[in-house]
Amino acid sequence: MKKKEIKILLAEPRGFCAGVVRAIEIVEKALKKYGSPVYVRHEIVHNKHVVEDLKQKGAIFVEELDDIKDNTRPVIFSAHGVPKKVPEEAENKKMFYVDATCPLVTKVHREAERHNKNGYKIILIGHKGHPEVIGTMGQIPEKNIILVENIEDANNVNLSGPVAYVTQTTLSVDDTKDIIDILKKKFPDIRGPIKEDICYATTNRQEAVKKIAPLCDMFFVIGSRNSSNSKRLVEVAKKAGCINAELINFEEKLPIEKIINYEKVGLTSGASAPEKLVQDFISEIKKYANVNIEEFVSTNENVTFKLPAILN
Ligand code: SF4
Repeated sequence: MKKKEIKILLAEPRGFCAGVVRAIEIVEKALKKYGSPVYVRHEIVHNKHVVEDLKQKGAIFVEELDDIKDNTRPVIFSAHGVPKKVPEEAENKKMFYVDATCPLVTKVHREAERHNKNGYKIILIGHKGHPEVIGTMGQIPEKNIILVENIEDANNVNLSGPVAYVTQTTLSVDDTKDIIDILKKKFPDIRGPIKEDICYATTNRQEAVKKIAPLCDMFFVIGSRNSSNSKRLVEVAKKAGCINAELINFEEKLPIEKIINYEKVGLTSGASAPEKLVQDFISEIKKYANVNIEEFVSTNENVTFKLPAILN
């Protein structure tokens, strides 16, 4: 029987961002320099494949410093950032730590600190429970920062005195704009970031999806269920016109029966998903259909971040 023809519209940029590349490299370099085990507090980036690969190389993942069995071994803090009390705790325990917080998350931490020092109450736009949000809120005293997750929260904010806002780096650009517009109406003098907090990688991946999604019958985002930027890409694809958008994390089987019913399939990957998963996805479809790949380049990225000097 003749194989079905499927066109894959592949988004570019997709996949690893500079912060993820740096965080993985920090763990690898630490393993090389200090031997194994090296402890990592929280998933270094939100991707099971990355975590499993580093486990094989000798990393041990823990949620809290108290879970570490040998305090003489190095510990690495994940790309999402940590509240101030975490490095303080490590110092109290005389542990050696390397901070893999993405420099673009650190930038948000410094903004929040600066606003706090200048007497502003801070609104953090983000998702409750995400490690980045916990890390940013933990930069300043709890009473001086509140979390706004959505438009409803923004409408209900009740603060007096000078107000500033910062945001999580991996939010939907459009949804965040709507929230900021409400805050600006409520607090005309509100201070915001000079350059927005949503990072270049989040913005670029969402832009690329917006271009392709209206042309697709189905859209797949490769990424883990706890990856904020990947989940946002699914929402962006739906909003841009492909309601049939799904997150695929490769822990379950690909829905091949569904895929081969479509002619145009959009494909991208979140900032913490390895390119190998994209290629595996394509190879799997090729078993059932003749695949024609068209890559849509919406922008070229050339961002890199330096490693901590101690690992050089
Ligand atoms: S998604 Fe953005 S903020 Fe997060 S690690 Fe990547 S570059 Fe840094």
